[in-house]
Amino acid sequence: MQVHERAIMIATPQQTQATARPDLVGMLPEDADAALRAHFAARGQPAYRVGQVVRWIFERGAFSFAEMTDLPQAERAALAESFSFTGLEPAKVSRSVDGTAKHLWRLADGDLIESVLIPTPTRLTLCISSQAGCAMACTFCATGWAGYRRQLTPGEIVAQFRGARRWAQENGYDDVTNIVFMGMGEPLMNPKALFPTLAILNRGYKFGARRITISTVGVVPGILRLAEMPEQYRLAVSLHAPNHDLRQKLIPLEKKYPLPELLESLRRFDAAGGKRITFEYVMIDGVTDQPELADELAEVVKEFTAFVNLIPFNPIPGTDWKPSKRARLDFFVERLKRLGVTAAVRESRGRDIAAACGQLRAEVTEGRTPVQMGSI
Ligand code: SAH
Repeated sequence: MQVHERAIMIATPQQTQATARPDLVGMLPEDADAALRAHFAARGQPAYRVGQVVRWIFERGAFSFAEMTDLPQAERAALAESFSFTGLEPAKVSRSVDGTAKHLWRLADGDLIESVLIPTPTRLTLCISSQAGCAMACTFCATGWAGYRRQLTPGEIVAQFRGARRWAQENGYDDVTNIVFMGMGEPLMNPKALFPTLAILNRGYKFGARRITISTVGVVPGILRLAEMPEQYRLAVSLHAPNHDLRQKLIPLEKKYPLPELLESLRRFDAAGGKRITFEYVMIDGVTDQPELADELAEVVKEFTAFVNLIPFNPIPGTDWKPSKRARLDFFVERLKRLGVTAAVRESRGRDIAAACGQLRAEVTEGRTPVQMGSI
């Protein structure tokens, strides 16, 4: 494949060290409001200052207190003393021939994560990370092979959205229309950050719940929690196999939450109404693409208001698996459709910049220190 990668290296940013100051970027809107109210009241400032700052954060997407130019200089300085304001600088931006753009973000402690902007004629989808690395160790996923490093904070997740959105605006893309938690990590293994982040995006940035998708490998307690929420966040389930035996070979978590239990939690989600489930199914040559598996898959998903997304396997280092051949892929999707299942093949985007599903490893090239691979 021809590779057109345009990498823009940016000098290592000045990062503020982690402090005990509360992070306004990672705060629920009502908490930010209360904290700012107390802050300005203690300084004898008028209450309308709260609204000014809130607008700078959620409506104007300011990156720093210094940008909040309708506040007196002294007030901007006082805010910076009382609060932190998580911002991420891109260590690298890669652009694919197909317009897909990947950001490699450096966190305050030097760790690296990625987000991906995926333009289509009608949408701009932002794919974000919920953890640095991933502990799920799915055999077909590069993030899984690289291991787990740490949880992200709400501020670090929200900052990917803020950073990518501003970059998109400055680089001729439209506004972000959809957010998917399909970057690095398993979002439902980081509930402490995920649920506040959803509330911040939805209530703070007014990002519609139905335009936010949480993709999970099948963390049952998290699915049940989502099912109970009034907001209609979308759920995508990385099913990848229609039976326990095959699934446990691909996904270690299948041992903890076996298929029957996973399906039971999805029934609860489905019963909550208005929340269509997407099933993701990776198409690996000779592993997941046999015709009889299509029949089995149809049997499993047909009770749900579901949509099956077939993802051609993106080759990753460490396995010699190959993507399914075109004819096999077409046969599989047609068979599902004949069996009454809504299904489509998801064409890979950004493969040339290793931005496609399962390829995110936050790899730094060009002479930088490689990420320390740890495991929990
Ligand atoms: N942990 C979450 C979200 C991350 S991955 C989850 O498992 O859903 C987003 C999607 O990419 C998942 O469906 C994942 O299974 C899939 N994926 C991982 N590696 C892949 C690969 N090499 N080729 C194609 N899809 C892959």
